Amino acid sequence: MLTKDEIWNALEAVKDPEIPAISVVELGIVRDVAVEDEGVTVTITPTFSGCPALTVMANDIKAKLREEGVERVAVQTVLAPAWSSDWISAEGKRKLKAFGLAPPRQHGGDIVMTFFDVVACPRCDSKNTTLQNSFGSTLCRAIWTCNDCQETFEQFKPI
Ligand SMILES: [Zn+2]
Repeated sequence: MLTKDEIWNALEAVKDPEIPAISVVELGIVRDVAVEDEGVTVTITPTFSGCPALTVMANDIKAKLREEGVERVAVQTVLAPAWSSDWISAEGKRKLKAFGLAPPRQHGGDIVMTFFDVVACPRCDSKNTTLQNSFGSTLCRAIWTCNDCQETFEQFKPI
């Protein structure tokens, strides 16, 4: 049986189905890992309760841990407290930016303010940007245009 740390490490290899640049651990979706004689239970909180990627993620987690030799894996979903973009690790935010997605800033619960914040272009770091559409390709993204390099980019919205 793997130790708890080894399981956390293995989960670093499980990528978010929508943003393959970032792992489910970096995204802050994995809340807890419990190792017991009967098997391993991984507790996750999806970014959105109706997130269609949830089943894919749960299956990916099970497949990865089985690959590591864990025979019995359960994935449990917990919806409260709701997932917050504050749970994305610093490394995760760096990877979002490298992927071309403007990372959400740390908001500490003060979300209303952040919607009016200036979002920096992930390509050239310019803050001269304009919000085009508050809903991008998924509910959790907004579309912006950079007025300096003309790049159209998506922002991972702070939630
Ligand atoms: Zn730019």
